[in-house]
Amino acid sequence: MKILTIIGARPQFIKASVVSKAILEQPGLSEVIVHTGQHFDANMSDIFFDQLGIPKPHHQLDIHGGTHGDMTGRMLIEIEQVMLAEKPDRVLVYGDTNSTLAGALAAAKLHIPVVHIEAGLRSFNMRMPEEINRILTDQVSEVLFCPTQTAIDNLQREGFTSKSAQVLNVGDVMQDSALFFAQRATIPEGFDLKSGFILTTLHRAENTDDPLRLGAIVSALNEIHKTVAPVVVPMHPRTRGVIAKLGLVLEARVIAPVGYLEMIWLLQHSGLVLTDSGGVQKEAFFFGKACVTMRDQTEWVELLSCGANVLVGADRDQIVAAARQNVNRVVIDDNQLYGGGQAASRIAAHLASL
Ligand code: UDP
Repeated sequence: MKILTIIGARPQFIKASVVSKAILEQPGLSEVIVHTGQHFDANMSDIFFDQLGIPKPHHQLDIHGGTHGDMTGRMLIEIEQVMLAEKPDRVLVYGDTNSTLAGALAAAKLHIPVVHIEAGLRSFNMRMPEEINRILTDQVSEVLFCPTQTAIDNLQREGFTSKSAQVLNVGDVMQDSALFFAQRATIPEGFDLKSGFILTTLHRAENTDDPLRLGAIVSALNEIHKTVAPVVVPMHPRTRGVIAKLGLVLEARVIAPVGYLEMIWLLQHSGLVLTDSGGVQKEAFFFGKACVTMRDQTEWVELLSCGANVLVGADRDQIVAAARQNVNRVVIDDNQLYGGGQAASRIAAHLASL
């Protein structure tokens, strides 16, 4: 079976690092990788291929920037051309980015069955571009690999039980990556803090594109940095741009985006994770750290129920109070909420059985 995999954004490289390896090792499967170019800076793309041993993409599309419609449209046009030339048996997409939607839509129109990894997640906020991408991708997928029971429940509620699509809970491939690379964690170059700092990532459009929310978050981070513990921010390029444009002053330890091995080191040595990322909420949990999430909803609701994560939106006082309450709190994964790190091999085995 020839699988055509579409990737383009940072979290997809991290997921592909374990899945592509499992596909390569599974008899009967072969993979052609397409990189859309959605993330293109060396420290948002190349470093992951180098560090994590992801096979070099067979097709590099170099599509980034512009509005959502513009970017997705250009991807649709070019991905279709690649599919017509490669004639794959299945198309594999990850998560919820514009690359995911463009890949799924191009494949569905060509009647190539779509496989969606990280299917079934919902924030129930249709203003998030990710929510639109994931709902539409799920609708045109033939195989939906879900990371959690919550994702299965979401799809059942949407009527997937009566469809011919296959819906399976295989666990979360991000736990596979975290476990696989944990031993190779590397301190970021020039980094001099040893432990106890607050690791912060910030890049969701709902925060960066709203000056009021972004202003409140920056003000909260400044207060936490001054009064709770040093705040370390590997800064997403988009966030850096908006902060500069708005003239906001972030008085934290701002560093360039780091590679995954450095990110794991920062997670392992932090005293708390403060984020609006999807993946980083779970990684905090995988490394035993409490997480404070600067969003109004999360797709990873099981982390709220077990008390590992708290949602604080973009409310300055709530962010500061939650950081103060949760810093250095240890969390434990008693129930293997994310499948225990076997997702990639389950996915490859299932694909080979189709
Ligand atoms: N990440 C990284 N370096 C950084 C920031 C994040 O390697 O400087 C990793 C992080 O550990 C996680 C993934 O990128 O595995 C999450 O990506 P992001 O937060 O961009 O996207 P989301 O998960 O919100 O879709």
